[in-house]
Amino acid sequence: MRGSIPSPGPETARYGGNTPCIEVRAGDETFIFDLGTGVRELGAAAQGPLDAHIFVSHYHYDHLQGLPFFGPIFDPRSRFTIRGPTRNGRSVKDVLSGHMQQPFFPVTAEMVFRARCEYHGFEAGDRLKVNGVTVSAIEANHPGGNLAYRIDYKGRSIVYATDTEHGNDRDAQLIEFSRGVDVLIYDAMYTEDEYLGRNGSPKTGWGHSTWQNAVHMADEAKVGTLVLFHHDPVRTDDALDALVKLVKKQRKASLAAKEGLVIKL
Ligand SMILES: [Zn+2]
Ligand SMILES: [Zn+2]
Repeated sequence: MRGSIPSPGPETARYGGNTPCIEVRAGDETFIFDLGTGVRELGAAAQGPLDAHIFVSHYHYDHLQGLPFFGPIFDPRSRFTIRGPTRNGRSVKDVLSGHMQQPFFPVTAEMVFRARCEYHGFEAGDRLKVNGVTVSAIEANHPGGNLAYRIDYKGRSIVYATDTEHGNDRDAQLIEFSRGVDVLIYDAMYTEDEYLGRNGSPKTGWGHSTWQNAVHMADEAKVGTLVLFHHDPVRTDDALDALVKLVKKQRKASLAAKEGLVIKL
């Protein structure tokens, strides 16, 4: 839930310092979105093999750095289908195996992964239907591209829209995509003051949004719960508490993503 870089330490321990990874369980299926450092904890909690559909939003470090430390991928009883977009001619498999090699990493995926892994492309506009669950994606507004995902199951729905900057025509598409979902997980990395550079360098064009825009998107799309996501690594727990208070004044059904948070629908 933490953006950009892991941020461990006493000041971030309550919300957690791991980078993006969320798990969605629907019926008999398990879905994992992004492979940030949080996936190490997810793997440890599984205490054994896993059978899951993995979707990667984009390939910035904070969204795939956890993969080589994801325990179940070393278990030959595990099965994964790993999906993500092709970028600059490089498939999801090319990118994931590309970052696990010298000089970035000591061993390759081929050397150490023992789970059965299948890799498939997944692009904006694609739709996967499995066991009554539908996963779909649209393009968000982020340097180098990023997919926002929507999961639908038995009339319940979630949108995972991390790493997206507001202020262009993609906003309207994302509002349409998120229309009426139960949970909207949205990039709220900055405050408007930080974004516009009122107290430091401006963050425009960096590919992230503000809590003010998160509230706007959630209201426009008439979603149930807004989950603020991709917290700025410099935001301490106390600062995040204060920020959540401000958000709740404008939109009661809002909370900040937290390590281990579970939402039942
Ligand atoms: Zn990110
Ligand atoms: Zn990014």
